[in-house]
Amino acid sequence: METCEHSKTSKKAISREFFGKTFKGRGEVCSECGAILWDKNSQNAFYDWVSKLDDPKARDKFTVQFFLTNKATLCLDKIVKQFPGSDKTMILRALTVIYLTAVAPFPEFAAHVENIMDSEVFKDLSRGAREQRYKVHFKPLVLIDLQSWAKIAGLPPSKFMEEAILRLLSVYIENNPILKEFWKSTILLRLELILKAA
Ligand SMILES: [Zn+2]
Repeated sequence: METCEHSKTSKKAISREFFGKTFKGRGEVCSECGAILWDKNSQNAFYDWVSKLDDPKARDKFTVQFFLTNKATLCLDKIVKQFPGSDKTMILRALTVIYLTAVAPFPEFAAHVENIMDSEVFKDLSRGAREQRYKVHFKPLVLIDLQSWAKIAGLPPSKFMEEAILRLLSVYIENNPILKEFWKSTILLRLELILKAA
């Protein structure tokens, strides 16, 4: 299959799905394949639209719901105990933000969380019924990130978040010295900062 080079474009009506809502605007569209070629203008219009969605009454719209196993929940409880005044939702939100901003974009760190999926720890946390339901509210701009990374991974955002949390929880309990250091210097440090600011 040949890849389209999007050599001929025209300005057209565009739309983009965003957590149950639809952005509508205008932007460059490839005349051959119909792909939207996001430029600064259309991107900014989309971001503008998203930030105006941050209406407290519309909170449910920006809630990601996912499930964890009982074992993963026990592990999460241990982290909660490390941070007096925090709760599971706060930790999950912070860990997701850390995953999106400080882990996934960096190849070395992304490799750590990619490799951990082969570990016994990860398999153990993932095994069995995912009985614990979580609902975590995010700011719309974080959701843009979540949506983009989930798209790259070919997963729905909720499934992507569930995997990201399982990977980070595995890093947390894994005994490997490299991963211990990764947890301490990359994740724990940011977790402290985010929770302090909350
Ligand atoms: Zn094209």
